[in-house]
Amino acid sequence: MLKETDFYISKNNLRVQCTLCPHLCKLKVGQTGICLVRKNIEGKLFSENYGIVTALNLDPIEKKPLYHFYPGKNILSLGSFGCNLKCNFCQNHGISQNGINDFSFLNKTSSAKIIEKAIIAKNNIGIAYTYNEPVIFYEFMYETAILAKENNLKNIMVSNGYINSEPLDKIINYIDAFNIDLKAFTEDFYIKQTQSNLRFVKKTIEKIILSGKHLEITNLIIQGLNDNENDFINMINYLNEIGGDSIILHISAYFPKFKSQIPATNSKLINKLFDIAKSKLKYVYEGNVTHSSNQNTYCKFCGNKLIERNGFQTKIIGIDLNKCNKCLSKIENIIM
Ligand code: SF4
Repeated sequence: MLKETDFYISKNNLRVQCTLCPHLCKLKVGQTGICLVRKNIEGKLFSENYGIVTALNLDPIEKKPLYHFYPGKNILSLGSFGCNLKCNFCQNHGISQNGINDFSFLNKTSSAKIIEKAIIAKNNIGIAYTYNEPVIFYEFMYETAILAKENNLKNIMVSNGYINSEPLDKIINYIDAFNIDLKAFTEDFYIKQTQSNLRFVKKTIEKIILSGKHLEITNLIIQGLNDNENDFINMINYLNEIGGDSIILHISAYFPKFKSQIPATNSKLINKLFDIAKSKLKYVYEGNVTHSSNQNTYCKFCGNKLIERNGFQTKIIGIDLNKCNKCLSKIENIIM
């Protein structure tokens, strides 16, 4: 479905410039942006994925991953198609790296229908905009998020953080929690591996922190590409500097997908980086690894196990009335 977007500037000769993300694509009539979604039609910029949902699932919230936001609950998760980054290792390339003409069949829906499903879904707290990059289905996300708030549902955005300030400022009031991918900590990696720039992702993370909204960060580790220890330490120091030692970090193992032939990240490397991160940050988790005790949450004051995780099974065992049941410290950064 086509929807005219709010974020573009009209230029001479029916050209337009999209202002949704830092790519700022300049498009002639008939051209589509880097994201494969936003198209110049007769001098106006339209989104081609409005109301199109390629995936809709009731997921454990830990799968986003969010470990400190309503642990143990479900979240109705939806995605569309397209992405503004071009990662060779994309873990969801079937929907993210295709445009409207690459699909033989697409489901069209409405925000109202999504809300109806969210309300009746079991143990569900709201809606997650995820799977492909939600910035690219901004208009549908924005409308659905407003309706969700009117129905006392939470909104979660799982994003690469590649968005300009104006659209971020407009939607941030409606989003309750973010998981932002911080894919590496060098511009070189971002330019070569994703065709984007790290500095804009950092800006998004800093804005979210300033907004006071719940934030968790995911760092996907790919051996040989972004596992340099010094770069990793720089990233940890940066997170500590902007978010303090309670910022939540998921260090996630990569698996070969899409155009990448690099072998899956081994668990020893994840363990090593986990230990480095834990020396500065209180809440670090290993992701995409099985049966690791480094997926549990411990009290930052006394070390008591607060939340036990096994895969996507979550047990809250050390929290009573929002306090650690051992040292009685108030739990401050787990929303339940
Ligand atoms: S959202 Fe798409 S069209 Fe707009 S600037 Fe980004 S990549 Fe280009």
